[in-house]
Amino acid sequence: MAPTWDRPAPEAAPPPRPNAAGMDLPELKALAASFGEPAWRGAQLFGGLYRQRWTDWEHFTAFPKPLRTRLAEAVDLRWPAILHSQPAEDGSTKHVFGLEDGLQVEGVHMPYERRTTLCLSSQVGCAMGCTFCATGSMGILRNLTAAEIVGQVVAMLNHHAPPAERPVNLVFMGMGEPLHNLDHLMAAFGILTDPQGLAIPPRRITVSTAGLVSGIERLGAFPKRPRLALSLNATTDEARSRIMPVNRVWNLEALAQALARFPLQSGERVTLEYVLMKGVSDSLEDGRRLAAFARRFPSKVNLIPFNPHEGTGPGPRGAEAFAPPDEARVGALCRLLSDAGLPVAVRRSRGQDVAGACGQLVRDLRARR
Ligand code: SF4
Repeated sequence: MAPTWDRPAPEAAPPPRPNAAGMDLPELKALAASFGEPAWRGAQLFGGLYRQRWTDWEHFTAFPKPLRTRLAEAVDLRWPAILHSQPAEDGSTKHVFGLEDGLQVEGVHMPYERRTTLCLSSQVGCAMGCTFCATGSMGILRNLTAAEIVGQVVAMLNHHAPPAERPVNLVFMGMGEPLHNLDHLMAAFGILTDPQGLAIPPRRITVSTAGLVSGIERLGAFPKRPRLALSLNATTDEARSRIMPVNRVWNLEALAQALARFPLQSGERVTLEYVLMKGVSDSLEDGRRLAAFARRFPSKVNLIPFNPHEGTGPGPRGAEAFAPPDEARVGALCRLLSDAGLPVAVRRSRGQDVAGACGQLVRDLRARR
């Protein structure tokens, strides 16, 4: 699949009727005004949609009944629908969301003792073409709208109703390259972090990029933004360009320089996600190069043993199949990085028994149909 990240991704067709789900506060105030209502009615709409996560006009009981009826007649309130949910033995649940145009994306709910983490998609498919990734083999179909991004959060929180006192973390590590859809991502970020909306603190939201340097630079210019993670996965340009084609445009040196320039706040670190693939990225020499790369800017390293699934490899060229590393090597690399003074953790891909790699469940469902 030829990578196409150098041009904007296709956009969703405009909805046939206005849809309040996903509108920001100025849009909701304008919507209220179009019904002859004062601006504070727009603020009430915002609170109902995002603070309360209401999904039906009948839930807005503070509104006079005639207003609710007029809204229901003229304005939709539609979030992405959960079409399919697949729980895993580790407690996580992978959801497939149906979009208005019949396309599908996926998100994952991961409950932990002290937090809830939601893994979100940012695009339908992906232009980046990483050879180890199920989504990469789909190509890019289109960007998600801000409503579709926020809608994944609303749908999963309403479905699982996690305890209010347990903080919610959001990670954009599902389908798509979030920095290839930065405009809609940041519009969604505004709603997700608004204290009158979903009120998720910016430091609890992380976007993971494959290394789109133009997007990293744009993200760094926002005064308020999510945290940044880099999906690194190899330590030589030869290996990284082979598995992540974006490296042929912005190589490791360009990436390190962009991350060293990235305006981090006090105490903030870039997360380096490093998938360990046997014979590709898991040598001790890889570990030493990884440590040298990571020390060029404030960072922390997540080592992720590869989650084997069918159908990956460098496509038409064929022969390379990826495999998980030996456990002893995972431990050795973890010690090497820790001895180098780096914060390091080993992360297991959750939901491995239910097609846990990004894009894998949607692809499997499509294949079954
Ligand atoms: S790993 Fe991420 S950036 Fe790469 S193809 Fe998959 S979804 Fe896209």
